[in-house]
Amino acid sequence: MSLERLEFKTEVQQLLDLMIHSLYSHKEVFLRELISNASDAIDRARYESLTNSAVLENESGWKIKITADRGRGTLTISDNGIGMTKEEIVEALGTIAHSGTKEFLAALQSKAIKDNPELIGQFGVGFYSSFMVADKITVFSRRAGQQGAGGVKWESTGDGSFTVEDVEKERRGTDVILEIREEEKKYLDEWQIRSIIKKYSDFIEHPIVMDVEKEQDSALKKGEKVTIKEEETLNSMKAIWLRDRSEVPEEEYNQFYQHISHDSANPAKVIHYKAEGTSEFTALLYIPSHAPYDILFRDYKIGPTLYVKRVQIMDHCEELIPHYLRFVKGVVDSADLPLNVSREILQHNRQVEIIRTNITKKVLDTLGDMKKEQYGDYIKVYNEFGRVLKEGLHYDFTRREAIADLFLFPSTKTEEGVLRSLDDYINDMEAQQEAIYYITGTSLAEALHSPYLETFRGKGYEVLVMLDDIDDLVLSGFEYKGKRLKSITKGDIDLDKTDKTEKETAKKQYAELMDLMKDTLKDDVKDVRLSGRLTDSACCLVADEGDLDPQVEKLLKAMGQEVPLKKRILEINPSHPLFAAMKAVFEKDAKSNTLPDFIKLLYDQALILEGSKPKDPAAFSKTIAKLMAENIGKESS
Ligand code: ADP
Repeated sequence: MSLERLEFKTEVQQLLDLMIHSLYSHKEVFLRELISNASDAIDRARYESLTNSAVLENESGWKIKITADRGRGTLTISDNGIGMTKEEIVEALGTIAHSGTKEFLAALQSKAIKDNPELIGQFGVGFYSSFMVADKITVFSRRAGQQGAGGVKWESTGDGSFTVEDVEKERRGTDVILEIREEEKKYLDEWQIRSIIKKYSDFIEHPIVMDVEKEQDSALKKGEKVTIKEEETLNSMKAIWLRDRSEVPEEEYNQFYQHISHDSANPAKVIHYKAEGTSEFTALLYIPSHAPYDILFRDYKIGPTLYVKRVQIMDHCEELIPHYLRFVKGVVDSADLPLNVSREILQHNRQVEIIRTNITKKVLDTLGDMKKEQYGDYIKVYNEFGRVLKEGLHYDFTRREAIADLFLFPSTKTEEGVLRSLDDYINDMEAQQEAIYYITGTSLAEALHSPYLETFRGKGYEVLVMLDDIDDLVLSGFEYKGKRLKSITKGDIDLDKTDKTEKETAKKQYAELMDLMKDTLKDDVKDVRLSGRLTDSACCLVADEGDLDPQVEKLLKAMGQEVPLKKRILEINPSHPLFAAMKAVFEKDAKSNTLPDFIKLLYDQALILEGSKPKDPAAFSKTIAKLMAENIGKESS
């Protein structure tokens, strides 16, 4: 069959150029990536063989073989896994089908990646990292179970194109042959290969073997030594999760974490336990110390790797963990599930449900314990994953309180950097206080300067500051230990129940002026009313109780949803001298020309106070200038 030359998709070429030219340290990770691909290919073949034994082609035993040929300058990584057809190889090694590619390309140019090439693995572009050490890569592959047909040879020098060709391949699986660059020949040394495998791939479940030279007593001549070649397994293949907690040093837990997560940092917490009873399983779970770049993306892969009696069944088993704990990584090994379990079965399986419930409780308990006993570490974890955890309040009704117990917020009562829990809030709240008050905002400084806080400060009521986009969505109206959470920027706030008569009098006093205001601003606000939340400022804008919080509005817009424009309510502070003065003008001449100007100015002020722009900045500044001129005129006369 003829040779076909194909172009790499643009982004692959871009990626290759960046990879070859920008990553000088840690080139050794290429071997980890190839071994990981080989191991995945074996897992897939083994899984398929459970229902289709033809895949095995009568050859038993899974194996990854490394061959270093110093004479030819090549390093070969062979596996007897699932293999690829021609179509599959063109797709897998000619394009990048991941949605994270753009982010990856952007990240590759950043310093973080240059300093931490381990991050490469996160993006799933591992294969191409081999071009850091190889001038040319040749791949021979044949799909398992298709003996006698369908072998393919793929070849590229990483310069914009690759070739594919039909070839015969006797054994199933894939051979990746690297022509090692002159200056990288050290990767052909036995000890180098050994140490890289020990460092990165020791936990791979399948044997990684290499022919090594060994000295042995000669069978022919007594006292003489001969050199023989013998296949040696280089990795320990230890299923770390099946060992006893007390036997596993922290270092090994960390290495295994790095191996499964492709994270270069250590995890913040290891959760390792064996469950017995209604369901028998072992879980080795990790809470990472930092969030991956794509945790808020829709296609973020969630869930631990599922094993059944040491056989890997699937990589990301999302049925095992709720979405709001998707930052948890790890392995679950079940003794009860059938080996040929499919996705469909998993979705309705009672055992899976039990495991999921158990894991969820364990993770939440662990976070709770961390909060109590390792507060410093907890805050770091919370800062990374608090946003994701909060989704649980919406989705996991039965555990709402346990989840809310984990939340921490900045507050008007604490110094910057000191966070408060809802429990702290309840313990310290004033006896007559009815709700847990909060304010949303995009930055702490902005929120703390908000005029909405005036009355609360005056009364000594604490207000929690919520800075995550989903806060209002999940927390508004939520009841924690009998107290409802209430946004201070929405709805009517009336902290002084006793001042009812005073409010009624003020209401009557200003009724006509307020009618004029309503009329003047009818296009901008849906109502004008007296405020229960201001002491110093003259006015502010508030949303109605059921209206969307501005932060939530932004979130919805970012998700491409239409958000209807909602008019808000202008609240005025009756104790501000401005209103007495306006009322005096109104009583003298209800048709005065200055009143509408003033009213519009008030609305603009309220907009400025909440961090928005005046409706018509030119008109605003013109009116201000006019007022200033008049006043200065008065002073100088
Ligand atoms: P990733 O492994 O993260 O998907 P890679 O660039 O390393 O990214 O590999 C791309 C794809 O090529 C893999 O998803 C897999 O489908 C295929 N592949 C790579 N190596 C092998 C192999 N040894 N056997 C079978 N398929 C492979």
